[in-house]
Amino acid sequence: MAGSKFAYVRKFELPDVLLPSTFMVFRLDGHSFHRFSDEHGFVKPNDLRALQLMDHAAKSLMEEYKDIGLAFGESDEYSFLLRKSTALYNRRQAKIVSTLTSLFTSCYVFHWPRYFPDVPLRYPPSFDGRIVLYPSEQEVRDYFAWRQADTHINNLYNTAFWALIQQGGLTTTDAHAVLRGTVSKDKHEILFSRFGVNYDKLDPRYRKGSVFVRAEVPSYKKKGKVATQLELLHCDIIRDDFWEKYGHILRE
Ligand code: ATP
Ligand code: ATP
Ligand code: MG
Ligand code: MG
Repeated sequence: MAGSKFAYVRKFELPDVLLPSTFMVFRLDGHSFHRFSDEHGFVKPNDLRALQLMDHAAKSLMEEYKDIGLAFGESDEYSFLLRKSTALYNRRQAKIVSTLTSLFTSCYVFHWPRYFPDVPLRYPPSFDGRIVLYPSEQEVRDYFAWRQADTHINNLYNTAFWALIQQGGLTTTDAHAVLRGTVSKDKHEILFSRFGVNYDKLDPRYRKGSVFVRAEVPSYKKKGKVATQLELLHCDIIRDDFWEKYGHILRE
């Protein structure tokens, strides 16, 4: 097809195809959600409605993109694992990142009223997105372990921080000062001795984050193939147990 005399500018668009046969991890994160959560009155340290809305948007993404086998979410971020062999958008990076980020964001806004019926959106939220490639199963496992370890560190800190403020009557400056230099054991102790909170008994959703797996349903076959369904879990994904059960995610 003959183009116009202007069509040569197309040649300035460079290919950005991602390496074949390599795991893709797509992560998005809310832009300035510290402010967004303040302006929309998120409950601290963990607003359940906001986490459920994130989960809903993540599930929508996995329903649309079947090459995502696993997802992990905490706070204002979500990570998605795409199968090594995915041919999604011919593995064009900008196309994948922009389309998935955009769909997640529009799902977040679309479903907002269901989770925040009494809180109108004051301005449109946005998310950043990126893809990191990992060559083998070990790095993929370590990537997800890294995110879940981060969930634990942040949530323990935030739980102690907000207990000192909400129940202890401290200012934010004083709460930070109390926690400065403390290790994990000290924070458990502060929660238990001052506020009667056994951290390990708190809802695993907050301590472990959200895990979506595309699990096989062996008893049910669709067109001769094992059917799958999305399962939402709040379990440990660092130890071997999880990967022994759901290892098929890495091998497809
Ligand atoms: P950036 O644009 O660099 O990501 P940010 O303000 O979004 O900046 P993050 O490190 O991503 O910073 O942290 C997100 C912040 O959003 C948290 O620190 C917390 O204050 C808030 N937040 C996100 N989700 C929730 C939630 N479910 N409940 C309460 N607060 C939340
Ligand atoms: P891709 O995902 O590759 O971008 P696409 O279907 O969005 O695929 P485009 O080349 O972006 O393809 O073309 C957009 C199409 O959307 C147009 O061909 C046209 O059919 C339709 N479209 C967009 N805007 C309008 C509009 N204002 N009125 C009518 N049709 C529109
Ligand atoms: Mg953020
Ligand atoms: Mg974040």
